[in-house]
Amino acid sequence: MGTCVIYDIIIVGAGPAGLTAALYAARFRRSALVLHDGTPRAGYIPLSRNVPGHEDGIAGAELLERMTRHAEASGAHLVEARVTAATRAEGLFHLTDADGVVRSARAVILATGVAMNKPPLDEEVHQAALDAHVLGYCPICDGFEHTGQRIAVLGCDISGAKEALFLSGYSDDVTLVPQRNVDLNPDERRDLERAGIHILTDPVTRFEPTGREMRLHCEGRAAPLAFDVLYPALGSRPRNALAQQLGLEIEAAGTLATSSPFGTPIPGLYCAGDVVEGLDQISVAMGHGAVAATKAHNWLRERDGETAQAVLGAE
Ligand SMILES: Cc1cc2nc3c(=O)[nH]c(=O)nc-3n(C[C@H](O)[C@H](O)[C@H](O)COP(=O)(O)OP(=O)(O)OC[C@H]3O[C@@H](n4cnc5c(N)ncnc54)[C@H](O)[C@@H]3O)c2cc1C
Repeated sequence: MGTCVIYDIIIVGAGPAGLTAALYAARFRRSALVLHDGTPRAGYIPLSRNVPGHEDGIAGAELLERMTRHAEASGAHLVEARVTAATRAEGLFHLTDADGVVRSARAVILATGVAMNKPPLDEEVHQAALDAHVLGYCPICDGFEHTGQRIAVLGCDISGAKEALFLSGYSDDVTLVPQRNVDLNPDERRDLERAGIHILTDPVTRFEPTGREMRLHCEGRAAPLAFDVLYPALGSRPRNALAQQLGLEIEAAGTLATSSPFGTPIPGLYCAGDVVEGLDQISVAMGHGAVAATKAHNWLRERDGETAQAVLGAE
């Protein structure tokens, strides 16, 4: 196989979860390698205002840069490589990247995040809309900044309804807009109407973000509708392929069990961040990363007979 180094811990992912895991693992004096393909969702964040300790906000890119420096200064190594295959044999994990390079470790932390479903916008236009705060993906993160504004939610189904109801806590002007069809049952409609949420029936044919607002061109309407912000509620695709290859059970939503930062049925395998079922937030991803690295470290100590139980022979 041509493998020469066996790492204590390989972490797949260099978002907030993976970089926190790397920091902890390195500070436990473990040989820690981070493999990442340069596509963290955190990199989309123009300015996050709910990362504790950053009262003036911090851009996702800056946060990742700082976290990378911190992990590297503590001894973690980062390599940009897309991992395409993961196997486990005789107590070792083997990760193969897109160039066919195989790297091995005794423990693995998967912090691969999720890919979000986006409206049809060119990448550049999409990022400019995020930067102008006329497009958002995380009401929990930045609904507060849109208090009292004209808010649109894309997706006339149960996910869109939940997001619109949540956002009605910030504004009386919330509109649910269908991407294609309206798929709401009478109870959902009633709840939305009670909350004062407008329900449009004409699907959006074109998204036109400007530096100040999001214009939505809808079928059968001559003029576009203008909103201060649009939140697509189109769901996301957990990046769970490696977890599946290693034999982890995937939940209906595609995510991994909430307990997986603490350990999985596969000895030495831990998961952290958005790929785990739960609140997709930076602070949660960081917490998962810390838990996963500590659990992995202690698991390795146990295997190496370095815990009090192993040394003293206590039960
Ligand atoms: C526009 C936007 C704004 C947001 N604002 C906020 C906010 O203000 N506050 C907040 O708390 N949260 C916010 N979020 C959510 C936040 O970005 C995520 O919760 C956070 O990034 C999760 O961290 P993570 O490490 O789990 O995943 P990610 O940040 O997505 O990182 C995943 C990592 O895995 C790597 N990867 C995946 N698969 C592979 C593979 N096969 N091989 C190699 N590498 C791989 C990627 O390259 C990446 O490095 C926002 C999200 C978006 C999209």
